[in-house]
Amino acid sequence: FDQLSGDIWYDGTFVPWSDAKLHVLSHGLHYGSSVFEGERAYGGRIFKSEEHTERLLASAGMLGFDIPWTAEQINAAKEETLARMNLVDAYIRPVAWRGSEMMGISAQKNTIHLAIAAWEWPSYFAPEERLKGIRLDMADYRRPDPQTAPYKAKAAGLYMICTISKHAAESKGYADALMLDWRGQIAEATGANVFFIKDGKIHTPTPDCFLDGITRRTVIGLARDRGIEVIERSILPDELSDFEQCFVTGTAAEVTPVSEIAGHQFQVGDIIKNLMEDYDTAVRPEAPSLKAVAG
Ligand code: PMP
Repeated sequence: FDQLSGDIWYDGTFVPWSDAKLHVLSHGLHYGSSVFEGERAYGGRIFKSEEHTERLLASAGMLGFDIPWTAEQINAAKEETLARMNLVDAYIRPVAWRGSEMMGISAQKNTIHLAIAAWEWPSYFAPEERLKGIRLDMADYRRPDPQTAPYKAKAAGLYMICTISKHAAESKGYADALMLDWRGQIAEATGANVFFIKDGKIHTPTPDCFLDGITRRTVIGLARDRGIEVIERSILPDELSDFEQCFVTGTAAEVTPVSEIAGHQFQVGDIIKNLMEDYDTAVRPEAPSLKAVAG
């Protein structure tokens, strides 16, 4: 990021990008007491900004801390950050963490910090490249049981196994990894939800131990608007060979076709192409269908 200039919103004030630092004894760094969001602005408007802020506040609550800013203040701070950075198509990264006053597992009194960074992220590049689909490997690590971790939180700690899995997949030439859950059912990619298509119907795992992504919910709505049946259920890896198409969804991934999962090949068919277009329309501020999907 050293090529980036501009300012980062940090605990209520703007600080120059290179000065947005924290102490090495921050609890968030040592013990994973950190939550974050990943959001995108299209044409100057943050898509589902309020939902992302709600999830950020809820994630902090699941880790037992309160972010000392209201949803309204956070929403306004994100807008101010975009405006200050002169960004139109951008990625927005709010992050909250326990500070450095006490070093130990217990850190009840530590200051809760909040920072919001934003950087340019073109909304759409190389569509013909995307249509080829990405290749996924199977991850070795599994999503934890809900009794093992607060799975609804977008918490830094839950990403440890995602980074390990993604790096392992990348080192074998894959774009990403598909993770199973603790039962051995298909869960999600390391930073995106997964969908399958068979006989014109969409099948996707029930989000009972992984993030129910905002993009996931948006795309389910878009598919149902098209009259496509969407079935949420448990899906076993044995079923991979039955599916014709596969795609992943996420704020960063948007709707991205998958061409292969560990040797199983998939087509990129019309349903995926239509949903990619529908999503592209939905995220645009001028989208006529915006009200229907903005929630
Ligand atoms: N699962 C994981 C693990 C993620 O990191 C993300 C990206 N936030 C998603 C799913 C998709 O969530 P969203 O659509 O809200 O970006």
